[in-house]
Amino acid sequence: MTITPNAGLPNGGDRWFLPDELSKNLEDKYPGLSRDEAAEVLSAGWEFMRCLVPEFTSWERYLAMTRLLTINLVAEFRASAGDIAFGDLVCGYDIEELLGVVFGDTPVREEMSREYRGMLLLTAAKSGMSRHARLLSRLTEALANSPADYFRIRDCDFGSRFTFAGAMACNEVSGGWLSERENQILAEVAVGMYDAIAFHKHQAEGEICNVFAYSDPSLRPSVYRMYREALWALDTTWSRSVAKRCVVNFARYGGGPVHMLMRRYRFVENGLVVGLPESEGTVAAASQNVKLWHHLAPGSSQAGETEVAGSYYRTVMAGERKWLFPGLANLLGQSNAARCPSCRPPEAHRAEETAGFGGMRLCNGCRSEWDAYLRDFPSRLKEVLETPCPSPRSVEMFAMRKFDVRDT
Ligand SMILES: [Zn+2]
Repeated sequence: MTITPNAGLPNGGDRWFLPDELSKNLEDKYPGLSRDEAAEVLSAGWEFMRCLVPEFTSWERYLAMTRLLTINLVAEFRASAGDIAFGDLVCGYDIEELLGVVFGDTPVREEMSREYRGMLLLTAAKSGMSRHARLLSRLTEALANSPADYFRIRDCDFGSRFTFAGAMACNEVSGGWLSERENQILAEVAVGMYDAIAFHKHQAEGEICNVFAYSDPSLRPSVYRMYREALWALDTTWSRSVAKRCVVNFARYGGGPVHMLMRRYRFVENGLVVGLPESEGTVAAASQNVKLWHHLAPGSSQAGETEVAGSYYRTVMAGERKWLFPGLANLLGQSNAARCPSCRPPEAHRAEETAGFGGMRLCNGCRSEWDAYLRDFPSRLKEVLETPCPSPRSVEMFAMRKFDVRDT
């Protein structure tokens, strides 16, 4: 194990703990990052993996998966790491080789390669470089299309199904890969819980990926509770299968505990409180990438009509079969002619506000459709669980029935 002192960064002298395999040649692997920045990125990637995928049977696959997640962390604030449209070499690694180590000859290798590459592209698009402006502008509009489109794009952006499959691969399961519906449900649970907790962090970053930027923010507690109950319902149902048991951890940790356990978040700095409202200080810190956060400045998508931004976007779309999950190119390429004229693009509302979400500002009518979609989650879950909906009362009944000693 390597211990890297980090007293020079504004985070207050955290020390990072890394397996030796990850800490070798930090500067060589992450050109453009200082040794301290590279150590922080690697440590955040390692902490994410230890939380989201706590168990594994293949160390080789686990290391490769950690490196893939770490590369995406770099893309969050150094967009050049996401320029995979121009080759497989990213941050000094051949990502095709890493994907091959993790997924080997599994039936999901090709699918997960597209999920991962898509995640890098979307992440980099949000880092605000001018050449990504057209992609960012299309992504911003596509996220607000509908809640179903939001959750599918956010699934990719958040690395949900990619990490579910990665967790299974790291545990060398031979079957039991999640169905499309199972991926969708578990991803919605994980994303919904994370977005609820990260609400203020995302406002400090000008984030466009937070479901409560489009639905009623006052629903956060009740929606979080609903998803948390679904997490336990899924966990109870799936925990007897090795393959399915390891994927629920993504939501179990990502849906809240990472905000306390990982130094990437401000739990200690905020006096052991999770989810405090953003301040001028946190917005300024995000602009300086403190804790690897990134602030998406207003107007970042407005340079979308430049030749460079157009060329980059066309390159990405031309490579959709390799880089985008099926359907994403269509979502990005949709005409905005059919879009609700009452919803406001980010340029219109962000010019009046110094902080806050960076995405579309939905009108009341559209927002109420998102609220209804969230409230209807139990019917979507029911299809997967084939159990009663997880409303508070029915979940109580569900738990009693499952654990009733008369049944065992
Ligand atoms: Zn509208």
